[in-house]
Amino acid sequence: MGTEGEGIGKIQGYTLFVKDAMTGDRVRVRVIKTKKHFGYARLLEILSPSPDRVKPLCPVARQCGGCQLQHCSYPSQLRWKENKVRDCLNRIGGFHVLASGVSAQISENVSEKASEAVPDAMSKKVSETSSETGFSSLHNTVKMEPILSMETPYYYRNKAQFPVGKDKNGRLVAGFYAGRTHSIIENTDCMIQHPCNRLIVETVLAFMQENHITPYDEKTHSGLVRHILTRVGIFTGEIMVCLVINGHDLPESPKLVDKLLHCDFGASLSQQAVSPENGQSAAWQEQAPLRIESICLNENTEKTNVILGSKISVLYGRNRIEDRIGSIKYQISPLSFYQVNPLQTRRLYETALEFADLKGGEIVWDLYCGIGTISLFLAQKAAKVCGVEIVPQAVEDARKNAALNQLENTEFFAGAAEQVVPEQYEKSGGAMKADVVTLDPPRKGCDEKLLDTVVKMNPEKIVYVSCDPATLARDLRYLCDRGYELRRVRACDMFGMSWHVETIVLMSRGKLS
Ligand code: SAH
Repeated sequence: MGTEGEGIGKIQGYTLFVKDAMTGDRVRVRVIKTKKHFGYARLLEILSPSPDRVKPLCPVARQCGGCQLQHCSYPSQLRWKENKVRDCLNRIGGFHVLASGVSAQISENVSEKASEAVPDAMSKKVSETSSETGFSSLHNTVKMEPILSMETPYYYRNKAQFPVGKDKNGRLVAGFYAGRTHSIIENTDCMIQHPCNRLIVETVLAFMQENHITPYDEKTHSGLVRHILTRVGIFTGEIMVCLVINGHDLPESPKLVDKLLHCDFGASLSQQAVSPENGQSAAWQEQAPLRIESICLNENTEKTNVILGSKISVLYGRNRIEDRIGSIKYQISPLSFYQVNPLQTRRLYETALEFADLKGGEIVWDLYCGIGTISLFLAQKAAKVCGVEIVPQAVEDARKNAALNQLENTEFFAGAAEQVVPEQYEKSGGAMKADVVTLDPPRKGCDEKLLDTVVKMNPEKIVYVSCDPATLARDLRYLCDRGYELRRVRACDMFGMSWHVETIVLMSRGKLS
């Protein structure tokens, strides 16, 4: 399977990429596009299914662009994700990363490239030399720790953005965009979204229908309601509903507020007959009762693919909701970046804390800090945490969140990490040091200028959280070539059913005491 979860098959030596096919399937396909060395094909029929193939729970899984792996059993998704990380680290980074027990169990899922990078004889030799911790200084070999899997890989997202439009018959619909297109697949009951969304979206659509409110039409740049955005504080039960409108106000808005405030989430969720068998997460059931704390409008009158505009007005309650990760509280506005799977985020950050192994006296730099999520988590155990983030509003949120949690040992800088960190380093005349640096960059990874300065700051440990194993591997190689060693690697499944995988890595300079 390829990096985005597509099946890769060969016919007479020619490679075809087949969306919706998986390792172990025998399939009949129609070739839709050919290039010199590879082509693309559409899945027509499964002649014999992979032992890991399952029936997707969502009726529109194949058309919708949201999930790519619903047809793969969850254990096989996890193995595939672990192998993807390992493959990148070995092939791009040149490391000797060994499979954790999880991925070793199924050898046929190990991609060809991964097995090329660690030939059998080599991986045997390496594992013989591995110490108890799985680390050998000679080869800088680590054994992956088992992927942090989700208890239930459904209904986990706390943020949804439903485009609103009309179907062929002129009926009002909301749903998701089909993969790589802008046609709306009607679906208010998404299997990876928090289950309260269905009632919210149906309520908004009913309000629009009753009050003749038009949906936005991209082609003509007319109509009013573009998107319905929802956010749920999984641990607090607080819900935000935000309508993105192509205009300045919403006619009859008090009626919408009234309708939304009358939503009975408890009754609706029990009626949805969701159970562990069909994927219901127990997570939200254990939390505080669901209630709407914020109803907002977001104005976006531009002809653009960007969902949100910058202006927000409040129709009811506050302009933000609160959520918690562990004991840290976070304020979330419609525009804030906030992790979409808080249960797994907590586990990821706990792992970051474990990898950083803070004793209380450390200076930590948290680069690409967003609204300070990791910074505040680490500030509980460090002497001082400095965060750097490029989006000024996120930095404001980070400062507010630090104050909300009375974590005064934090400082946040707005700007590109590759500018701010070298500048601060120069300003200090080379005296700026760190005990721990955490890096959590976007998919493109870190700029070399930043990594050079990080090396100069000489942290004992670097904790790298990555959403792209390929750029992670590249950056780790760069750091290893400058004196760091790879110590621990753990993948984390933040986005079950999708091809995304998060990885957390510990590097250190020299041997750890
Ligand atoms: N650590 C945070 C956010 C991680 S997402 C969390 O766990 O929630 C990556 C963040 O990097 C985003 O907030 C993005 O705005 C920011 N970013 C992107 N490019 C950047 C750069 N060059 N310098 C600093 N921050 C950047």
